[in-house]
Amino acid sequence: ITIADLTKEAYARVEKLDGDVEAFLALNKDKATLTAAELDQVPFEERGPLFGLPIGVKDNIVTEGLETTCASKILEGFNPIYDATVVKKLRAAGMVTIGKLNMDEFAMGSSNENSAYKTTKNPWALDRVPGGSSGASAAAVAAGEVPFSLGSDTGGSIRQPASYCGVVGMKPTYGRVSRFGLVAFASSLDQIGPITRNVTDNALLLEAISGLDPHDSTSADVEVPNFAAALTGDIKGLRIAVPKEYLGEGVSVAVRQSVLDALKVLEAQGATWEEVSLPHSKYALATYYILSSSEASSNLSRFDGIRYGFRAENVQNLMELYKETRSQGFGDEVKRRIMLGTYSLSAGTYDAYYKKAQQVRTLIKEDYDKVLADYDVIVGPTAPTPAFKIGENVEDPLTMYANDILTIPINLAGVPAISIPCGFENGLPLGLQIIGNYFDESTIYRVAHAYE
Ligand code: GLN
Repeated sequence: ITIADLTKEAYARVEKLDGDVEAFLALNKDKATLTAAELDQVPFEERGPLFGLPIGVKDNIVTEGLETTCASKILEGFNPIYDATVVKKLRAAGMVTIGKLNMDEFAMGSSNENSAYKTTKNPWALDRVPGGSSGASAAAVAAGEVPFSLGSDTGGSIRQPASYCGVVGMKPTYGRVSRFGLVAFASSLDQIGPITRNVTDNALLLEAISGLDPHDSTSADVEVPNFAAALTGDIKGLRIAVPKEYLGEGVSVAVRQSVLDALKVLEAQGATWEEVSLPHSKYALATYYILSSSEASSNLSRFDGIRYGFRAENVQNLMELYKETRSQGFGDEVKRRIMLGTYSLSAGTYDAYYKKAQQVRTLIKEDYDKVLADYDVIVGPTAPTPAFKIGENVEDPLTMYANDILTIPINLAGVPAISIPCGFENGLPLGLQIIGNYFDESTIYRVAHAYE
């Protein structure tokens, strides 16, 4: 098969399936067809493991000449003049970008219902959400539209949709992957990561996108290992910690059972597990919403109607232009976060909210440091329940926020974590979350692969 044929086949799959799933916001067909023809000229001995394979990219990752909206009206018509570092790296690996994937507006949400354009459906049950905010990145892979995608994860946005859609999603260590060209939501939490159908593909894609980038001062100068080489199948003597907070209130009976069953599978291969505590977990949700919204309120101030995308019409002066553009351009959830963040950062409330949340963040990080000093990985569920129905939580932001209770603390700590499929509840997939030490994605992959 030629790369040209493969690319054509990918678009045929999208055409056949996307009417139901509604994952893609923009397709890159002309450019991808040209790229494929060029790739076909490259000699076989120069091709790496991902060469010629189709990939979808979340729409908050900028792509030169291909509309990038973050699923927001305020970026309608925005055509970036450069590629994100990860997109450059995909090209260097010979991958073919098929198109841009839907998301919750500016990555704020857990269901894709906050997109200004459409709600992506869960391929396992079209009346259910695919999760969020990288819901379409997970749904497109689960439906078989593309075998690979990139998502971003600020508080669970790769792992929770991977769990809901029955695919593999990795949030790497903070700093592992360059954020240059990722439209910032909360810069101290955001990470780009791979979503795939199996662990081997995931390891290969993470290796391809990782590494120090002079354009991102928070990217880490740490060696990028051959992650696929870690998939030895050997987990003899591996020490697993299971936090009691991860199997407590709110977690469904089937989810709890799926984790206990997974632990048995790992035990049978020579691993051992013990219950531990992450005592500050109960503060994670509040801490996250204060810090992420504060950072968002500052990051989103650049959308002023002058520099990018949408601009309101019929205004009398500059102030009115800002106000009208932002009022019309941002959706409700984004406005809610901007208000919350602006409030937390205000002179009268900064000490009580923002500063306090930063202090609690350190305590949460220390919980993980302590446990990971004694254990190789931490294991628990990715989400408390399987995918919920479209519309079920839209009126209730707090219930929606509580959905991320098991993924958010990992971003606050900065450690890496994966979600892999581990069973079903009423025919809907469930995810097992495996959390590792800083820059030790290899051990996570080794455990995930041994389980898979
Ligand atoms: N659902 C969480 C939020 O709405 C996490 C989003 C994300 O990881 N981008 O903030």
